[in-house]
This record gives sequence, C-alpha cells and structure tokens, in this order.
Amino acid sequence: MRIEIATLFPEMCLNVLDESIIGRARKGGKIEVNCRNIRDYTQNKHRKVDDSPFGGGKGMVMQAQPIYDCYKAVCNDFGCVPHTIYMSPKGKPLTQKRVKELALLSDILIICGHYEGVDQRVLDKIAPEEISIGDYVLTGGELPALVLTDSIARLCEGVLPASECFEEESHWNGLLEYPQYTRPEMWEGMPVPEILLSGHHKNIESWRLQKSLELTKQLRPDMLESSK
Ligand code: SAM
Repeated sequence: MRIEIATLFPEMCLNVLDESIIGRARKGGKIEVNCRNIRDYTQNKHRKVDDSPFGGGKGMVMQAQPIYDCYKAVCNDFGCVPHTIYMSPKGKPLTQKRVKELALLSDILIICGHYEGVDQRVLDKIAPEEISIGDYVLTGGELPALVLTDSIARLCEGVLPASECFEEESHWNGLLEYPQYTRPEMWEGMPVPEILLSGHHKNIESWRLQKSLELTKQLRPDMLESSK
C-alpha cells in the first residue's frame, strides 16, 4: 500500500505519521505513506497558492494550478494514476465498509484542502472521490487525511499483529465491540465479569456476542436497523 498526502502542511501530517503503530509500520516498510507539499508546485514566483474568491466573500481559495501540477507529479512518480481522494465536508461520510475497500487498493493520493477550500475546476478535472469524516467543518483536510490514512493503514498486512486485532472491533461486522477489561481483577470495588476469568472460550465468545448486541441496541440502534 502506497499513500501520498498532498498538503500545504506536510510537517503537521508527518508529526502524526512518525508516531506509534503507523510510525513503526512505515519504518518497518509495511506501508508507504509520504507527504508532498502542494506549495512546491506553484508557478507563482512568491510561492502563492491561494487567492480571494470570485464573486466576493471572505477567506481564500486554493488555486487549481498547484494542486493539478502536484497531482500530475504524483502520477508521474507512481507510474500510474492513483485512486485520488479529496477530503471534503461535502463528501460521502467515511465508513468502515469504504475503508475495507480502500485498503485493497495499492496506490492512493489524498488531497487536503485548506482555507475556504479549493477551486472547483481542479476537482472537475481530476474527479476525485470526495470523502468527509463527519458533518462538521475543520480548518483543513490534514486531520481528515490522517484519519483516513490511519483507518486504511491498520488493515494492511503486517501493520497490526493479526487480523483479529481489527476483525473483532466495532463496525467490522455491523456491531459495536463488547466491553474490554484488563488487570487488576478488582479495581475501585469493581470486579471483572467472572465469565472472562473462567477460561471457557465458547462461553466467553457467546457472552461477548451478547454484550455486543446489547451495546449496539443501546448506543447505536440505527446500525441494527440498517442491517435488516
Ligand atoms: N468552504 C468549505 C465548505 O463549506 O464546504 C469548507 C472548507 S474547510 C474550512 C477547508 C478544508 O478542510 C476543506 O477543503 C477540506 O479539505 C477540509 N475539511 C474540513 N472539514 C472536513 C470534513 N468534515 N471532512 C473532510 N475534510 C474536511
């Protein structure tokens, strides 16, 4: 899996991508995630990448040229046209189902907008998939791109120790995960459910399924409705 993040703030992304599980996976060569500075592709001699919106209004709009030239450079370096995603509050809300599909691809380019967004013409030209991480607006596409990258990367082989690590989690099979406990057995007068100490794997499995169903019904009844 190769992911390229096109952004005006590569350092912001790299600070996150160098850490923890994703950082180790990158260092260990399990996934390739790199950042590319859109500003490096501007033809403006002052390295400007944005301008005020036609028609008036506050804020700045990212210009089409640097984004398109950055896109072309990635295509050239990859030797193929990567599946291109523009992070946008107007996009389709991200789901675990879409993450699973994206994790099967080999080359992905994620474009981050900033300020008031990007000139519509570059979106019309590239025709990226538009993905939102929720119905709210952030200052830039960097955090959404990192959310998307993390969700995809953890499904790639060798990033987590085993596929059970993600297959038994919330949203994998349309349910929320059962509650988890660890040592000590008693904390603040609260014991761990006895069944988890029984060593009886079949009973533990059915207890967990029961808890998953109960939790999903209680916290996210919409998930059970949509699976009907
Ligand atoms: N003017 C745009 C609008 O109303 O749809 C919002 C622009 S937002 C301030 C700047 C950038 O942040 C966007 O171009 C996008 O890349 C990113 N962004 C903000 N919220 C997002 C969200 N919920 N999901 C994905 N990307 C988001």
